[in-house]
Order: sequence, then C-alpha cells, then structure tokens
Amino acid sequence: MNKIPVSILGATGMVGQRFVLLLNQHPWFEVACLTGSDRSIGRPYGEACRWVLPDPMPAYARTMTVRPTEPDGDSKLAFSALPADLAREAEPKYAQAGQGICSNASAFRMEPDVPLLIPDVNPDHTRLIDIQRRNRGWKGFIVTNPNCTSTGLTMALRPILDAFGIRRAIVVSMQAISGAGYPGVASLDILDNVIPNIGGAEEEKVETEPRKMLGALSDGKVEPASFVMSAHTNRVAVSDGHTVCVSLELGRRVAPEEIRKALEAYEFPAAVRGLPSLPQKFIEIRDEQDRPQPRKDRNAGNGMTAVVGRIRPDPVMDIKFVVLSHNTIRGAAGGALLNAELLAAQKFFEA
Ligand code: NAP
Repeated sequence: MNKIPVSILGATGMVGQRFVLLLNQHPWFEVACLTGSDRSIGRPYGEACRWVLPDPMPAYARTMTVRPTEPDGDSKLAFSALPADLAREAEPKYAQAGQGICSNASAFRMEPDVPLLIPDVNPDHTRLIDIQRRNRGWKGFIVTNPNCTSTGLTMALRPILDAFGIRRAIVVSMQAISGAGYPGVASLDILDNVIPNIGGAEEEKVETEPRKMLGALSDGKVEPASFVMSAHTNRVAVSDGHTVCVSLELGRRVAPEEIRKALEAYEFPAAVRGLPSLPQKFIEIRDEQDRPQPRKDRNAGNGMTAVVGRIRPDPVMDIKFVVLSHNTIRGAAGGALLNAELLAAQKFFEA
C-alpha cells in the first residue's frame, strides 16, 4: 500500500509534537509537510521546535523545513494542531483545496455538519461528511476530535448510557498543564496551587461536546443525548493526564458491580477493529482505592486507553467514579490519528 501523504499544521506546538512522534513510521501515513508561525517558517524543524516530549524527536522531522499554513500540493490529509482562531480561518482553505482535515481545534466542533468523533464511540457520525461537502461545496472535509477533558469522560459514559441511560451528570476535572499548550501556565501560577478556571469556555465545551458525540445521527442530523451535565474544570500541577470525578443520576439505583460489568463488556464497534492506533482495551478498570493516578495510569494502552476507578454509590446522584485519560495522546493527537485511520479505512482519501 502506498502511504498517504499528510501535513501537520502547528507542528511545533504541544499537540503538533505528539503528531510528529505518533506519525513516525506509521503504516498508512507519511509526513510531507510541517507548518508553524512566522517564528518558525523557513527554519529546519529540529531548530525551530522546542521539543518537550521525553521521547527523542524522530529523525525524519529534524531536517524538514517548517512551511507556512497553506495547502501544499502533496498532502491528502492535514492534522491540525492550530489555535482555534487560526483554525477557523485556515482549515476551510484546506477542505476547499480537497484535503481532509482532522482537527484538534474547537473552531468547527459544534457545527451541525461537522463530525465530532471518537471512532470507538460514534464511528457512524462520519456520515456527516457527505452532507458537509454538499452544504459547503468542498472536495475535502473537516472532522474534529473533542476537547481533551471531554474525551476520556465520553468514553466512560458511552457504555453506561447504552446500558442504563443517564439523566444528569456532575463532573469535576483536574487538568494537566500540558493541556494549555507551550509555554502554557506560568510556573509561579501553578506550582503549589490549583486554579479553578481553565478559560476558553472549557466548562461549556465539557457540558456540550459529550452530548453531541453520544447523540444519535438520523435524517442527516445529530440529536444530542438528552441528559444534562454540569462541569467544574480546574488546572492542577500535573504534567500530562486529565482526571475527571463523575457523579451520575441514572434514574434508578445501579450497583457498582453492574457499572463495572457494563464498562468491561463494551465492545469496539466493527468499523474500528484493526485500526493501527486502536488500543487493546477501550477502558481499563483499577480496583485499588487510590487509582487512577496521572503519573501511574496515563500511559495505559500507549495513552489511548481510558482508566476508570473508585466506582461507588453516590448518596445524592446514583453512582460516582473517577476517569483518567492522556490529554495530548487520546485527548488530542492520538485521537485525531485514530479518526484519520477510520477515515482511511472508509476510503475517504481516495480520489
Ligand atoms: P501550542 O503548544 O500553543 O501550539 C500552537 C501551534 O500553532 C504552534 O505550532 C505554533 O507555531 C502554531 N501557531 C501559532 N500561531 C500561529 C500563526 N499565527 N500561524 C501559524 N501557526 C501558528 O498549542 P497546543 O496545546 O499544541 O494546541 C493546539 C490546538 O489543539 C489548540 O486548538 C488546542 O485548543 C487544541 N488541543 C490541545 C490539547 C492539549 O492537551 N494541549 C488537547 C486537545 C486539543 P510556532 O511554534 O511556530 O509559533
């Protein structure tokens, strides 16, 4: 199989670097173009990028010249790690030029004809792409992945919604510093501290995005899942890995053991089986009273598995638990890569 040429937009940033790493020797995709801001354009990536990941920068990227954020002639797909305001301007140009965009940015997530996708949660939502192309006259398309806190949360809610239904949810996040990009939150603000505000309408995103992904697609529209959700989002002094404490009202008392069984019994949808970045486990359950923890659990399934623990009765709602997921892997670059793999398997990049 000839590899599909791809671009990484915003390749020098926190999420862009994850893309550079995850696409190293990918079986289906080959990086043809890396883009950055005026600060980086024209310089070798190895020089322009302040590499912050513990794994070394892959050799293929070091000597590539950072390009402006404009559609190149080679790529069929662009992974976008652009700031949202820039994404709103740049991503349609790529779609117009015939490229597929797998975007991390929030700019188009809630547009009715744009799939907001976690492939192992709502793979059928790729059907919106044909509608999007018709609506906008694009040869290409935009597909988005959710906000990094919504990702692990939605993964945990899917099996519970399917098995028991959900009426109301209250969630409290403890979000890693890497979620703010680089250089992100100043060390003097975050060391020895918790900041009870993320900015960028984070709470609204967490209250709406999961409902879109868990909604049913019919007659060309997504009807959001009907439960209501209240989110408190907090920044904590953790490098990677977002933790979310979840309380759910289900409409009836459900034993923790039943919730556990539903989470463990969840089967990957047929559409995603065999995708290269799919982890072995969708959700891993930890039984220890003090897990999941970011430092110990964020790399489960190479950062693609959500980890759930402390499933117990909630005296106000019905059930409560904790879910952890890696924010720059499953919650960003790894999630977008899995989206692209699903789209490739569904032949969206063929002429
Ligand atoms: P970041 O570290 O600040 O990186 C931003 C990237 O955009 C850099 O490559 C930067 O290039 C480029 N850029 C900035 N201004 C530009 C301009 N005017 N023209 C062209 N390129 C420009 O941010 P990040 O954390 O990687 O986040 C990227 C996107 O993913 C954001 O939309 C964010 O909300 C979303 N997201 C992030 C996470 C996370 O956990 N971090 C999770 C989910 C979604 P230079 O380095 O050359 O300036």
